[in-house]
Amino acid sequence: MAASLVFRLHDRGPEVVREVLLERGWEEYDQEKREDEDWNLYWRGSAFRNSEYHNLLPWQRLNHHPKTVGITRKDCLARNLRRMRATFGSALYDFSPTAFILPNDYTRFLSEYHKLRLTRGPSAYWICKPVDLSRGRGIFIFQDIKDLVYDCSVIVQRYVSNPLLISGYKFDLRIYACVKSFHPLTVYVHQEGLVRFATEKYNLSSLHNLYAHLTNTSINKFGPFYKTEKERVGQGCKWTMSKFRHFLHSQDIDELLLWQRINRIVTLTLLTIAPSVPSCPNCVELFGFDILIDVKFKPWLLEVNYSPALTLDCQADITVKKGLIGDLIDLMNYTMIDSLREKAYHRRGYTQPCFRANHPSHVSIPVLSKFKETKFQKRRNGSPSPQTLPLIKTLEKMNQRQSRQHAFVADYQRHLPPVDLDETHASRGRIVDTTANKTHTDRKTLNLILSPHSRTKVSVVNRQTCPALAPRLADNRSPRLSEVTDHDATEIEAETELARETDVSSSIRDIPHRGLGFRPSKIPNIYSGSHRPVKMERTTALNRKHIPPLRVGDFIRTFPFNTATLRASQHQLDVKIVIQELHRVTAQLATSGSKLRREEKEVKKDGEEDFDSLLWGPKEPPLLSQLFKPT
Ligand code: ADP
Repeated sequence: MAASLVFRLHDRGPEVVREVLLERGWEEYDQEKREDEDWNLYWRGSAFRNSEYHNLLPWQRLNHHPKTVGITRKDCLARNLRRMRATFGSALYDFSPTAFILPNDYTRFLSEYHKLRLTRGPSAYWICKPVDLSRGRGIFIFQDIKDLVYDCSVIVQRYVSNPLLISGYKFDLRIYACVKSFHPLTVYVHQEGLVRFATEKYNLSSLHNLYAHLTNTSINKFGPFYKTEKERVGQGCKWTMSKFRHFLHSQDIDELLLWQRINRIVTLTLLTIAPSVPSCPNCVELFGFDILIDVKFKPWLLEVNYSPALTLDCQADITVKKGLIGDLIDLMNYTMIDSLREKAYHRRGYTQPCFRANHPSHVSIPVLSKFKETKFQKRRNGSPSPQTLPLIKTLEKMNQRQSRQHAFVADYQRHLPPVDLDETHASRGRIVDTTANKTHTDRKTLNLILSPHSRTKVSVVNRQTCPALAPRLADNRSPRLSEVTDHDATEIEAETELARETDVSSSIRDIPHRGLGFRPSKIPNIYSGSHRPVKMERTTALNRKHIPPLRVGDFIRTFPFNTATLRASQHQLDVKIVIQELHRVTAQLATSGSKLRREEKEVKKDGEEDFDSLLWGPKEPPLLSQLFKPT
């Protein structure tokens, strides 16, 4: 019988992740019954420790990349966007309301405040938010500086006072973006997000009424009108994105431009941190982007949530979040071999040394797990005697080394197309030979290292590529309502992350050569620091297998979005080129109008490979190329 995949949830949550994984036949990790490393997915609301990244084994994935606090904490986001604005121009980075980090920026804020007072009178509004809190806690809106009172670090931001309203109610959009990889940058945006409403009508003369000005569910579900049937909005305070799209259509609003702009916000925001996030191929990150639309249909970025809330408070939550998690698991692209965990990798060690190379230390490495004392044995045997302690310690050290070797090899394998278990011997030989004998200028080898999506592309299971599974996936969304609870608490304060993450990158960069007797610079480990890129010659032609799949379930690939951005992200991310391309594509879309032009095809330059990119948004999003006028 095939082994199951195993998930581990920190602090028993979130429930929807458990539910989706159990429905898919996964097993939950039980500390009492399993070895420490016997799991495939570890899901945490808060950040992982450095050691957890360093000790990651080939079959294991984590739901966070390290060092993403640069966009998930309000002050860091403000600072990073300001830096990007200074470098690339305020016209490009104009999607977030001007913000000041207080107390540091107090003088600058004061001067801006007075400037606006002079030009606009008292009609400028500000919102004050504690930098490290979430769920609307500690937020207030003010017009007059005398009302600005704070006792912790806050950001004061221009209040977008002309939001688009639906029947008088303010709302914002929760967009889910998944960074599948930071190196190369690969981003997916989920089509099914949430629309979150305030539960009282918007009114600028009652700035203190949080039920009218804030759209957080954690606030509005305690409002007096939460359960009331509200005009057009209905009961509660959430819509699915599909419902919102129907609404836009009913108003004859052309939504393509809106989605394209939101898409651009997601990309530009991620670009602020992408070059500095260390590479960790076994991690994914699900971000929650909060976007407010104003009356002119301009989308504004309010904040980026680390560990967006996954509570099921209402039917819209169930529909959106269950589908989202299912698609995220598909995006992680587990294959059969992952379910074998340690066994498969150790068996591989028996039949073939990890590095059957010219290098003497690679020859015939013993499989030490044979000697490894399991938890159960430990329990059975009681404490080791003082005489055996040194031996156990030596064995443990050897084991650690052994695991890392496996990690190195498997890092290669993770980047390979999927293989049937029966084929593993053949493939193994290839991997080992390539690793050991050839230099990284060998094109084939380079492709193996640098094409993490080749496997994803082939084996991904989703409603498009595996229709047989579609009904089952759809069934996963069956309703199971939780009581309205304060579970938005799962939306994590970035503060925790910051504390834990301090210095992740430096420690990662400094991971010493592991003493395995081979040259580490030649072999990427599972957690290769971004500052230690694999050296390679730039290849002019890109193979199609570098191209991540267009969509996985309802996740649409939004980056890379054309050949140039694919190239610019393959090695060290070239932010300038990406920005140039964003400009180019946006301009092209603008001149073409956003109406779909199915009959028109993108004119390809000589030698340019096929590169399809969907415009995220409508249920059946058009290809970007279909929107361009022929040039
Ligand atoms: P939190 O992390 O506490 O949820 P947010 O920045 O998301 O903080 O703000 C909470 C809510 O306040 C948002 O969902 C939105 O409704 C409102 N809000 C925040 N910033 C602004 C702004 N600059 N203009 C208008 N409304 C805002």
